[in-house]
Amino acid sequence: MSKRECWLGRTPQDVIAQSRKIVVKIGSSTLAHEDGAVNREFLESLAKSVDALRALGKQVVLVSSGARVAGVSRIGKWSRKEDTNYKQALCAIGQVELMTAYSEIFSAHELFVGQILLTRDDFGVKERSLNIRNTLFTLTDEGIIPIVNENDTVAVEEIKVGDNDSLSAHTAVLWNADCLILLSDIDGIYDQNPKTHPEAKLIEFIDNLDETLSHIDISGKSDFGTGGIETKISATREAMGYGIPVILANGSTPDILLQLSEGTAPSTLFTNAAGKPEAED
Ligand code: ADP
Repeated sequence: MSKRECWLGRTPQDVIAQSRKIVVKIGSSTLAHEDGAVNREFLESLAKSVDALRALGKQVVLVSSGARVAGVSRIGKWSRKEDTNYKQALCAIGQVELMTAYSEIFSAHELFVGQILLTRDDFGVKERSLNIRNTLFTLTDEGIIPIVNENDTVAVEEIKVGDNDSLSAHTAVLWNADCLILLSDIDGIYDQNPKTHPEAKLIEFIDNLDETLSHIDISGKSDFGTGGIETKISATREAMGYGIPVILANGSTPDILLQLSEGTAPSTLFTNAAGKPEAED
């Protein structure tokens, strides 16, 4: 995959305006209520935004977490079980809940969804990654919204991507996305954890990741979160390595994707270039 040489867009609205292919990653804390039930209001707002982006000629791929918490909420037990087979069983149950909610809510906007479950191995084997790429292209070319998640049933530690931030970056690279949007429970990257430091300051623009990281504190994560900011940073590093800008924003902001495209919501934009984008597929 070639690295995009340059990118015109120093604000999230410029980046979204110039992007045709957008990957959106939705974290567990955005997708589920505190009791683990699927946040249907969020999905309604997401469906409306995806519909609006599609009307502007854009294609969207979703990478969605939340299977395990949805599983706990569905059967009301095993939340404290730490053994892998129970975790995988919860994901198997919760994945159905999740996809049912996506399918019901998106179909109200006449949007069809398709499920893609992946493990790390799938990206490492040429033939498999080509198949994933072809499926993503076919679904999006036909106007269907792919929803990607880790295949938790088969993903034991050795073959796990490990977190959906990385999964979303791998997906963005494989699909040749123009930008990656990570939705979490915070407005972006702060100079320290905003959950524990109310005085933390939002950093809205980052074009030198290492320099920024040298003077901020990124420890801590949300109750449901798997990776915290660290995995978002490594996903961002991967995407930026291919010239794909990344926007980190708050999924609980109403109609967040539309607000980002209009420049009315706070966020952090990570980008490493300033020129005009290549005209490519
Ligand atoms: P998600 O489930 O949405 O992927 P995570 O819980 O994995 O979210 O990561 C987001 C969490 O990272 C925030 O809720 C916040 O508590 C924590 N965090 C730690 N340091 C920072 C920081 N410097 N800026 C923003 N968030 C931070």
